[in-house]
Amino acid sequence: MRAEAERRRTFAVISHPDAGKSTLTEALALHARVISEAGAVHGKAGRKSTVSDWMEMEKARGISVSSTALQFNYTSEEAPRGEDGSETVNVINLVDTPGHSDFSEDTYRVLTAVDAAVMLIDAAKGLEPQTLKLFQVCRHRGIPVITVINKWDRPGRTPLELLDEIQERIGLTPTPLFWPVGIAGDFRGLLRRGEDGAAVEYIKFTRTAGGAKIAPEEHLSPDEALSREGDTWAEAAEESELLSASGQDHDQELFLAGQTSPVIFASAMLNFGVRQILDTLVALAPAPGARLDVDGNPRSVDDPFSAVVFKVQAGMDTAHRDRLAFMRVVSGVFERGMVVTHAQTGKPFATKYALTVFGRERSTVENAYPGDVVGLVNATALAPGHTLFVDRKVEFPPIPSFAPEHFAILRAESASKYKQFRKAVDQLDSEGVVQILRNDIRGDASPVMAAVGPMQFEVVAARMKAEYNVDPKIEPLGYSLARRTDAASVDELNRQRGVEVFTRSDGVLLALVSDKWRLQYIQKELPELTLEPLVAAT
Ligand code: GDP
Repeated sequence: MRAEAERRRTFAVISHPDAGKSTLTEALALHARVISEAGAVHGKAGRKSTVSDWMEMEKARGISVSSTALQFNYTSEEAPRGEDGSETVNVINLVDTPGHSDFSEDTYRVLTAVDAAVMLIDAAKGLEPQTLKLFQVCRHRGIPVITVINKWDRPGRTPLELLDEIQERIGLTPTPLFWPVGIAGDFRGLLRRGEDGAAVEYIKFTRTAGGAKIAPEEHLSPDEALSREGDTWAEAAEESELLSASGQDHDQELFLAGQTSPVIFASAMLNFGVRQILDTLVALAPAPGARLDVDGNPRSVDDPFSAVVFKVQAGMDTAHRDRLAFMRVVSGVFERGMVVTHAQTGKPFATKYALTVFGRERSTVENAYPGDVVGLVNATALAPGHTLFVDRKVEFPPIPSFAPEHFAILRAESASKYKQFRKAVDQLDSEGVVQILRNDIRGDASPVMAAVGPMQFEVVAARMKAEYNVDPKIEPLGYSLARRTDAASVDELNRQRGVEVFTRSDGVLLALVSDKWRLQYIQKELPELTLEPLVAAT
């Protein structure tokens, strides 16, 4: 069991749209020989697309709003061999984060299922807003981050500028493992940095037609590199030593503590640096480990089976109206068909239909180990944050709600449909599709929806129509941020212009505020009122 957990790496890519997440996913799959040619997963014009299109809405926009997982085996040539000379085959689980700018709470929830994140940055754009938001969630959850500077084949910033930005804006110390040889737009290869920043070797890449195949690598000594690349090499070597002078060398403990981040320069499109990303995940990212339960006791990987649901998806298959719950195995072996207990209800749950899902393609899974992601079909009672287990009971802490930034009123179309409407609201709330807020003034017939991304509202509307036959009215509400408050502050807050207090279904009191200037004004004038920022994740 330990060995199975030990060889697994479960991670997600965090990035801003267009940074190259799909292209990188494909390049990783290519290197792991899951696909033989790039261009299949990522739907380019005229190429086959496998992005899931489980709702009409998705089809219309041509985007994916689902989070799924891709699992593949990978053998790192750099990993130490066993005593008998055998290679270690690693199992990589790449958990997909929805990639559209309209991202939602699901994007955040995915990060509760991973042990590491790859922060993908566009070399010309640097840190972008969505990357920053997702990074903050990683930081709060203590998820170690590996940084990949992508699109080095295109003109962009200088490598030192990019590292400075990371250091200064998010206080993460970048510690490059591989340094680019050639400026952005003239990507020749990578300098492998040794412990003291000295060049260990030069990995020279050769382009393949359209970047469809793995880029051949030549491994050269620093002397050979100098004679091949001249000043371009000398410059890279000098910069690498400069980094060491400022202490930017990898330190495993600081990396795991979230203080430093190994950096790799790459071109996902040309498949340059992609093998190095996989090797780094294998060498440095943590394997699945024990997880603390609600009482703070660890459930170790070799304890009996347990898993956490981190995402529920409905209606992926329009013909079957199914509900798929994605769980991450925390401990023990999962065997398809085993009957597990749902900790929240104490009820048994049969797992006859267990799937691994990537894009539209599904296949049945027979066994899964800690770190693996499994989709369970017809999981009506399961919601994000729920625990499943066998034998020794365990319940893991709930997934925190994330700070909403979009608010809208939800109304039943007519009084005659109210019962159905109410049922739908309760169901979607318990699934965590949106957060539902209520107060006495507005009453039950028009609850307020709060979301991280506005697309969550469209999901609510589409599902109410499809599954409950009600056509709700959704009106945007003029608030842009939420703060946690307390009972003592409610009356005074409700007297303020641009503020309204609600109770969320988990009992938390939320003050919605029109804008940050209004908030700053109230905090200044009435400092005694409680207005705590909601942490994106705790
Ligand atoms: P996503 O939105 O993060 O999934 O980004 P995509 O993978 O769809 O990539 C966005 C665009 O950037 C596409 O046109 C890609 O072909 C392009 N792209 C991705 N990676 C690279 C790269 O390494 N170099 C270059 N030149 N273009 C890239």
